[in-house]
Amino acid sequence: MEYCIGVDLGGTSIKVGIVDKRNVKIINSGSIPTKAPRAAEDISKDIVRLINGLLDECGYSIKDALWIGVATPGIVKNGTVISAANLGWSNVPFGMLLSRMLGRPVFLANDANAAAYAEAIAGVGKGRSTLAILTLGTGVGGGLVINGKIFDGFNGFAAEIGHMVINAEGRACACGKRGCLEAYCSATALVKESRRIMGLYRDSLMWQMCDGDVSKLTAKMPFDAKAAGDVAASLVVDDFIENLAVGISNVINIFQPSVICIGGGISGQGDALMKPLSDRVERLSFGLAQGRTKVTVAKFKNDAGIIGASLLGLQEKDRKNMSFAEKISTHFKIEGEIVSAAPYGNGHINDTFLIKTRVNGGDRQYILQRINKNVFKDPESLMKNFAVITEYLSGVIEKAGGDADRETLSLVKTFDGKNYLLTPDGDFWRMMPYITDSVCYDKVERPEQFYESAVAFGRFQRMLEGFPAETLYETIPNFHNTPDRYNKLMEEVKSNKLKRLSSALPEVEFAKEREEFCKTLEVERREGRLPIRVTHNDTKLNNILFDKNTDKPICVIDLDTIMPGYSVNDFGDSIRFGASTASEDERNLDLVDFDIELYELYVKGFIEGSGGALTEGELKMLPIGAIMMTLECGMRFLTDYLAGDTYFKTSRPGQNLDRARTQFKLVAEMEKNLDKMHEIVNKYSRKV
Ligand SMILES: [Zn+2]
Repeated sequence: MEYCIGVDLGGTSIKVGIVDKRNVKIINSGSIPTKAPRAAEDISKDIVRLINGLLDECGYSIKDALWIGVATPGIVKNGTVISAANLGWSNVPFGMLLSRMLGRPVFLANDANAAAYAEAIAGVGKGRSTLAILTLGTGVGGGLVINGKIFDGFNGFAAEIGHMVINAEGRACACGKRGCLEAYCSATALVKESRRIMGLYRDSLMWQMCDGDVSKLTAKMPFDAKAAGDVAASLVVDDFIENLAVGISNVINIFQPSVICIGGGISGQGDALMKPLSDRVERLSFGLAQGRTKVTVAKFKNDAGIIGASLLGLQEKDRKNMSFAEKISTHFKIEGEIVSAAPYGNGHINDTFLIKTRVNGGDRQYILQRINKNVFKDPESLMKNFAVITEYLSGVIEKAGGDADRETLSLVKTFDGKNYLLTPDGDFWRMMPYITDSVCYDKVERPEQFYESAVAFGRFQRMLEGFPAETLYETIPNFHNTPDRYNKLMEEVKSNKLKRLSSALPEVEFAKEREEFCKTLEVERREGRLPIRVTHNDTKLNNILFDKNTDKPICVIDLDTIMPGYSVNDFGDSIRFGASTASEDERNLDLVDFDIELYELYVKGFIEGSGGALTEGELKMLPIGAIMMTLECGMRFLTDYLAGDTYFKTSRPGQNLDRARTQFKLVAEMEKNLDKMHEIVNKYSRKV
C-alpha cells in the first residue's frame, strides 16, 4: 500500500496521521500538545518521534512513506512559515528542517488551504477543480483551490477570506482593521453579538440556556433559541447569516468556484444554517441560473488538516511535471502563452505531452515528445529522418494545394533553429502542432478501415515518390534484410545452445527450403527492378489519423521508424498482420488462414493511394513482399525461440514457436494462392 503522512500543527495540539493514499483514509493517528510558543527544532523533534511511533505500530517505515505534508497556522510559502502568531514563529524554514530529520520530502501549507485541498481532492469538491472553504471558528479561516491547485498569491497571503472587508466602518477585527468578515461570522463573533443582544432582551431564551451566566454561552445556543422561537436569537442568527452570505457572494463573484464549503463547529447546524444561507447567496451572487456555485457543509471535520496535509505531495508532483514540460516547451517557437502542459495519450514508447497555449483570437495545441533512448539507439539520425521527410511532405502537399498543417506531421523549430531540443541530460525532445478533429483506431473494426489504411500508406508512397530515399539514415540496420535474418536463424540452429532444436525441426526445414526465395527482393534490386523507397516500417492502423467528421484518413503518423527500404515490405507487413484469420500466436493452425478478400481490399487501396507511383517491378513484387514479410517474421520468431525468447516478450512457454508456426502456415497458404494474388494486383494496376 502507498502511504503518506499528514501533520496538523495547531496552536494547542499536533495531530499526525498515516494516510492510505489511494483510499484517502487515516490508518493510524495520534496527537500531542504543542506547548507553543516553542522553538521549531523542539517541535520537529516531537513530530518525528510521533510519526515514527505511529509507523512502528503499523509495521511501516519512514523510508517507504511517499512524503510528509504539514498544515500550519499562519502564512506559508515555499516550505517556510513566514509568520504564525499561534506558534510564535516567523520565517522558519520548517519544511527543510523536518525533511532533513526524516529523509523524505516535506510539503507545507496553511491549515485552511490544506483543508480546502482535502475537500477539493477527496471531499465535497472531489472531481471539481475550483473550490473555496470558510472555516468558522475562533476566527474565519479561508482556503482556495483553483484548477486543482492551492492558490496562495505571490507571497502566501492569499485566500484570507476572513479578512475580506464587508463593512468599512464596522466592527473592529483582531487583525487591526475594521469590518472584516471574521468580526461578524466567526463563532467568537456570534457569541459576542449574542451577549450584546441579550443585554437588550432580558427575557431571551438564551439567558436560560446559559444559566444566566453569559460566559457559558456557546455558538450553538442562539441557533437553538431561534429554533424555539426566540426573537432576540433570531435577530442575532439572521444577521450572522446575512453577513456570511455577503462574504460568500463576494467570493463567488470573484472566483466562481464550483463549490464553497463551510467548516468548523457552526457548520454542524446543518439546514438551520445552510438553507437560509443558500437563499441569501442566491440573491447576492452573479452567475447563470444553471451551474451555480454549490454552498455546502465540508466533509472533513477534525481530520481536515491531517487529510489535506497528507495529500499535498500530489499537488507538488503535478506542479513539477507540468513545469518541466512547460520549461521544455519554452525552447520551441510555439505561438501564444502556455496555459497547460499535461501527459497525453497512451503511447508506450515515447513520453508525450499535450501543450495548450492561448493567443489573441484563439487557442493552439501542440504535442511535445521525449524520444525513448532505450528503444531508439540513434535519436539524432531518427530526428534527421523525421525532419527531412516532414519538410518534404509539407512541400508536396502545399504544391498540390493541400493543407500542410493537417496532411502531415511537422516540427516546430527551437529558438536556435533546430528541429529538436537536446537537453544537458541527453534527452531528445520534439514539438509538433496538434492535428485537430482527428481520431485514431486501435484495431480494424470494419473492412473499410483496412482499405482506408491501404489508401493512406499508398498515398504516403506517392507523396514521397521523388524523395531520394538513399539519403535517409538506416536507424535500425538490416531491419528488413531477409537473407541476413535467414543467416541469423541458421546460426541459432547451429549453436542450438538451449537444445530446443528438436522441437522445431519441421519449422527449420520449412525455412531452409526457402533459402533462395529469401534473396528474391535483393536480386530484384540489384537487377534494377526494385527502387529504394522511403518506408514507414510500422504500418499499423493506429498509425493513421482519421478525420473525426468524415472518417477519412488525414495523414500517416509515428515516423520514428522511417528508413530506406522497399515499398513492397510496407505493403507485405500490412498483409501479414491484416489478412490473417487468426491471432499471431494461435495454437490451432486450422484456424490460421490467409484471407484473400482482405488482401484484395488492401491491394485496391494501396494501388489507388499510390496513384501510379509504383513501378512495374514493384507491382510485380507486391505478392512476393507479402510472403517475404510473413516468412521473415516467422524466421525471427523461430530464431528467438531457439535463442531463449530474449527479444519478443512471451507469456507462456513455446509462444514464439507457436508464432513462427502461424507465420509459416500463412506463408504456405499465400504460396498456394500466389497466382491469384498476382491476378488481383494486375486487375487494379490496369486501372491506374
Ligand atoms: Zn481582519
